[in-house]
This record gives sequence, structure tokens and C-alpha cells, in this order.
Amino acid sequence: MPQLPDVPLPGLYGDAIMDHYRSPRHREPILQPDVESHEYNPFCGDEITLQIKLDDCGRVAAVSSVSQGCSIIQASASMMADVMPGRSLEQLGQLSQTFRSMMRGNSPASEALLQMGELPALQVVRQYPVRIKCALLPWVALEEGIEKVQARSELADS
Ligand code: ZN
Repeated sequence: MPQLPDVPLPGLYGDAIMDHYRSPRHREPILQPDVESHEYNPFCGDEITLQIKLDDCGRVAAVSSVSQGCSIIQASASMMADVMPGRSLEQLGQLSQTFRSMMRGNSPASEALLQMGELPALQVVRQYPVRIKCALLPWVALEEGIEKVQARSELADS
């Protein structure tokens, strides 16, 4: 499997990324997830399986975020999973937009920053444009999961 060398990420942001890379959170699989999605990027061998369990109100009760590949996808997958519990899928869709916008170079509003946990650390990855995809892959999986749930509820409504 081709794997790109990990980029040097100095400073506090780099430390947060390496911390999540070395000790990723939320990797315990969920036995009966409400939704599961999988993404793969052959460019650097990055891979993620995301599982979500929802509560009765449609909020995230549990999340499993198992990634493989470079430090950036693993940190992004772990930091994303950290902020998911308790949120509705709609809120997570908005967060995903905010995250994508941040990776394109827009600084999140201070109100949005409060919702983002350690995710703003991934802003350093903007220095390496080809690696932005690595940071986004877990969010592609999240968006796919949200779409699956929405498609299901539309089916149930019709
Ligand atoms: Zn990668």
C-alpha cells in the first residue's frame, strides 16, 4: 500500500494531531450501529469506517471511528468522533460544512470554534494542499452516513 511520508507539523497544533494519532479515541466497534459508512483514498492508503448509534431523539449516542493511514486522517477521524456524541445529524452536517470551509482557508467564527473541540488544530494541514483530502476523508464518511439516514427516513415517510 503506498503511503505518503508524514509531514512535519510543528507547534501546539502539531502536538494535538500527534496526540490523537498515537492515542486515537472512539475506536471500539459498535455491534448494531444505526448507520455505517466506509471511505478509502488509494492516493495514500487512508481508510475509515464510521459507525453511529442514534438515540430516540436522533442524536449521536455512540460513535466508532476506525481509521488507518497517515497521521492526518487518523487525527481528523479521532477529533471528529470526539465532538459527535450528543449532536443531531443536522448539527453534524453543519459542522462538516464549517470544517470544510476552514480547510479551504476560512477561519471559523468564534461561536463555531466552541463547537469544534480540537479540530481547529487541523488548520496546519492547509500548508500541504495535497493532504487536505486526508483531513476531509472522515467527513466524507460522516456525510455519507447522514445521507443514508436521511434516505431511510424519506423512504419511511412516503
Ligand atoms: Zn493521508
